[in-house]
Amino acid sequence: MDSYRHKGLRKNLVETLIEKGITDSNVLNAIGNVPRHLFLDKAFEEWSYKDQAFPINDGQTISQPYTVALQTQLLDVQSTDKVLEVGTGSGYQAAVLSCLCKRIYSIERHKTLYVKTSKLLRNIGYGSIRTLHGDGYLGAERYAPYDKIIITAGASNIPKQLLQQLSVGGYLVIPVGDNDAKTMTRITKVDDGKYESEAFGVFKFVPFLKGAVH
Ligand code: SAH
Repeated sequence: MDSYRHKGLRKNLVETLIEKGITDSNVLNAIGNVPRHLFLDKAFEEWSYKDQAFPINDGQTISQPYTVALQTQLLDVQSTDKVLEVGTGSGYQAAVLSCLCKRIYSIERHKTLYVKTSKLLRNIGYGSIRTLHGDGYLGAERYAPYDKIIITAGASNIPKQLLQQLSVGGYLVIPVGDNDAKTMTRITKVDDGKYESEAFGVFKFVPFLKGAVH
């Protein structure tokens, strides 16, 4: 399932991420450990360790490793953290996060993708990731509050439910903007109703859409 060749390719990927400016050693170790080739369709396996996004089911994508690394680094995940991911997709980002935090919930709007990815995660040893089917715009109130929230689809605004479900002192990382170019944004919840925002460059993402698909 995971060969020396794959491990070697992952090492090269980690070097590329370092060159591109990723500095958090926990994040780099997690990327070095998670077998990304298992999250892609067989047809793309050869390219799994290139720093590129790829198509998966339902017209969605597995994010580029650099984007996964940057978003994870910005979250500053602690081993005691409870994390919510919006946009499970292939499950790769959730797998990376699961190496770093205590508890992870990941929500996907596409039912078929949710079913497929939940099964994959269980089969390859990431059964501790709690996958949910639903509209991530609403978050997952049931398990809130979260120390960290990450959105892996491109939003046009920041849903207030997600801000409400964030712990005081917590971070929410979201690509957000009016057009196709989304600004990677980190929101800090300083206090109830009080937020600070920082920007970290422009990215392209599949759209964050309202409503669940059955
Ligand atoms: N984190 C994923 C990236 C997937 S692309 C990975 O590592 O592969 C973004 C995903 O967000 C897509 O699967 C898309 O279906 C999902 N998505 C978009 N809007 C959503 C919403 N409102 N709620 C939940 N998931 C959503």
